[in-house]
Amino acid sequence: MNKPASVREQLDAVVVGAGFSGLYMLYRLRQLGLSVKVFDSAGDVGGTWYWNRYPGARCDIPTTDYTYSFDPELEKEWTWSEKYATQPEILDYLRFVADRHGLRSDIEFSTSVTSARWDEQEKRWRITTGRGKEIRCRYYIMATGCLSIPKPPDIEGAGRFAGQVYFTSRWPHEGADFTGQRVAVIGTGSSGIQSIPLIARQASRLTVFQRTANFSIPAHNGPAPADRLKRLGEDRDGYRHAARWSRGGIPIEPTDVLGVTASEAVRRERFEAAWAQGELFGILNVFADQGVNPASNDIVAEMIREKIRSIVKDPGTAEALCPKDHYFGTKRPCLDTGYFETYNLPHVLLVDLRKQPIISITEEGIETPDESFGFDAIVYATGFDAMTGALVAADVAGRDGLSLKEKWATGPSTYLGLMTAGFPNVFMLTGPGSPSVLSNMTVSIEQHVDWVAGCLEDMREERFETIEPTSLAESGWDQHVQDCAAITLHPTANSWYMGANVPGKPRVLLPYIGGVNAYRQACDEVVSQGYLGFRRTGPEGARCRDGVIRRMQPDVAMVLDLVAAMGMPPMDTLSAADARALMAATAAIRPPGPEVGEVTDGVIPVPAGDLPYRLYRPAVPPEGPRPLVVYFHGGGWVLGNLDSDDPLCRDLCQRSGAVVVSVNYRHAPEARFPAAALDAFAAVQWVDANAIELGGIPGQLAVAGWSAGANIATVACQLARDDGGPHISGQVLICPVVDSDMTRLSYQKNGDGYILTTALMRWFWDHYADPADRADPRAAPLHGNLDGLPPTCIVAADFDPLRDEGVAYARALEDVGVPVRLARARGHTHTSVTMVGVVISGAPVRAEIGAALRNFFAVRPTTEQIE
Ligand code: NAP
Repeated sequence: MNKPASVREQLDAVVVGAGFSGLYMLYRLRQLGLSVKVFDSAGDVGGTWYWNRYPGARCDIPTTDYTYSFDPELEKEWTWSEKYATQPEILDYLRFVADRHGLRSDIEFSTSVTSARWDEQEKRWRITTGRGKEIRCRYYIMATGCLSIPKPPDIEGAGRFAGQVYFTSRWPHEGADFTGQRVAVIGTGSSGIQSIPLIARQASRLTVFQRTANFSIPAHNGPAPADRLKRLGEDRDGYRHAARWSRGGIPIEPTDVLGVTASEAVRRERFEAAWAQGELFGILNVFADQGVNPASNDIVAEMIREKIRSIVKDPGTAEALCPKDHYFGTKRPCLDTGYFETYNLPHVLLVDLRKQPIISITEEGIETPDESFGFDAIVYATGFDAMTGALVAADVAGRDGLSLKEKWATGPSTYLGLMTAGFPNVFMLTGPGSPSVLSNMTVSIEQHVDWVAGCLEDMREERFETIEPTSLAESGWDQHVQDCAAITLHPTANSWYMGANVPGKPRVLLPYIGGVNAYRQACDEVVSQGYLGFRRTGPEGARCRDGVIRRMQPDVAMVLDLVAAMGMPPMDTLSAADARALMAATAAIRPPGPEVGEVTDGVIPVPAGDLPYRLYRPAVPPEGPRPLVVYFHGGGWVLGNLDSDDPLCRDLCQRSGAVVVSVNYRHAPEARFPAAALDAFAAVQWVDANAIELGGIPGQLAVAGWSAGANIATVACQLARDDGGPHISGQVLICPVVDSDMTRLSYQKNGDGYILTTALMRWFWDHYADPADRADPRAAPLHGNLDGLPPTCIVAADFDPLRDEGVAYARALEDVGVPVRLARARGHTHTSVTMVGVVISGAPVRAEIGAALRNFFAVRPTTEQIE
């Protein structure tokens, strides 16, 4: 029972946790001259390093990097003894830091915070501690760690065992002696993998119960890496700066080698180098695409499995130790010292729980369907309620009395992983939605602490008392965090990153996977934009610049960065011939798109001459005729050809199950308006008339196009309706040009910086049509008669200057009763949805297009539609 609150204290800030983050937070708050107290339930500083004292516990980020960087003098005074320091040494380090800066005087050990309540009247938090103290404070900072709440053993009979029970996460300070004992270890995550070889040295028999085989590489521990020491010696500031702006918080050169295209020799060389180096970020950087492309990931995974098979002598045990049910890196990979070798010892046995599950823990040991094992000790290395566990366990109730646990019942929601709406002045250090556990924690901790300290300093200067994110900013960030996750393989794994290790926990990627550098950039921008997305209040009123800091899909942003880095001249400054050459050059280096059953080229004889076409037939059964889709490429009526949209056509063919006929039409300026539109109509008529020869189903014909191709596709529909057919079952218009009015809001917002610019659109129009022709419905179909047009799917991309005319076309079609599906390409540009195999986040939009096409043919057109 908690003691009644008795002593009252007023403080500026309360920090919970005296680990890496809490200690540095205390240091910074003191620097600001704030009164502050840190509480920790442990008996000393150290956080995770206080509790996790199991044999073999070490960091697995090199000590050159797993260290504070805020104090250059500290860096001079402390020398790590190894590449990966042991838990006692890391604890000594944190004690050293606490003493050096006299931090202990503001820390209350063996004291937990039992509740925190927001007092809206006072604009303060009321904190109560387990020792009966009540504190009023302005700021409440949770430095509670990402892996601090052990997962309770969810195994039948766990409380019954009569022998010794140990948790790696709560190891006794006096240690454990397993000499001569029969020991069970349950769990083969980092804690299990580090402790198993050492427990095996003492135990008379060690039985490891493995549910999921884990990827691990040898740590090759020893002296700190010479190359890193050299770089630090030469330029410490430069090294630390590079770490802060790196993807993972360690300065490494990200590779651009793709696993899927690298030669076997390059693959092997890169993998062996990473294996020999023994660093987490090295093995995660063998290929640039291993985190997103299953085929590339499999190459690394298989090479690790080969290593395991070569180390472990018993083939059955080796096979059981080979991870096969998740992609490499999607569960936290481990670094080990002699882990796999341990299974070659005669007294060590592996029990594969997938084949031989635990029925129950008994008084004597562990019972499985095949065998009852007797033990003297059981070690649980079963992990943590990660990232959110410690935050929701603290009894925090915010503005409306809502607890964090209630608010996060369906998953955590944060702004920048730092704060959450409804909880004014509560800061989370390395909270969910920040890079945290996917990065070098020390770098991420320092960044968070510095951000919070800067924020409090700014508030003081600007005379604000409270700060809280808006729900718009928060939901925008949550979306961005999930967008970043969605393009990776991470969501496929049952990992603690996904909350999947705790029964009933919502399944969501908890950390931010966009990178330490991208994250730091976002945090900095929020500040430079006047604390965008935060509401700050004070005696002089409130200030809030509401908004979303990242609305673009992360892979689209990456493409834009790459394009910018290439320094290509703006297309609208080139001649048509040079622009075409540039487009062909970029098309030559992109992935080819999916395999389809058959691709054949031919020509369509139209009055103006022969139009080349390329036909794509789906690979999948059933055999026989298919619906037909006539497709027109993009390129502003000036650029493009059968090659330019080839990957997209393959994708459309595969997703729709239709025969796609991509038609090359005459281009401007050689053939100006209305040549392209007339060609499109003639091509549609020809494909309809030759449906059987093309392998199509007569009467099942749709049109599709992107950009200017969508323009002529829909013009063809208008002409077909007026000039005697053919019947068109539906039209797919991807980011269409439907009007020549360039004053819409989307032009103003997106007319610069997203590849298709206002200047380029003007250049296209100037090449294609005289100003006098630009309101002609065959140039601007929005101004045409829309009655009786076929069911329509329009894709409108957020960052496209043409977005609003696409939306206007959808609304106008709806107004005259045309069934319309408006597919919003959230976070996309005019070009990104079409970048098959490059922009992964475009896949859901293209899936929607495929579904729309299938739907056109599944539903029999009504008489009204035919008319
Ligand atoms: P973990 O990675 O979550 O591993 C827990 C292990 O226990 C897994 O093998 C899990 O199997 C197994 N397990 C859980 N419940 C089980 C059950 N009911 N029955 C059978 N097996 C069960 O936990 P951890 O090893 O403590 O590591 C957590 C994280 O802490 C690490 O990923 C790492 O980030 C950090 N850590 C770091 C270091 C270091 O720096 N060197 C050391 C230790 C920990 P499933 O995989 O099937 O769930």
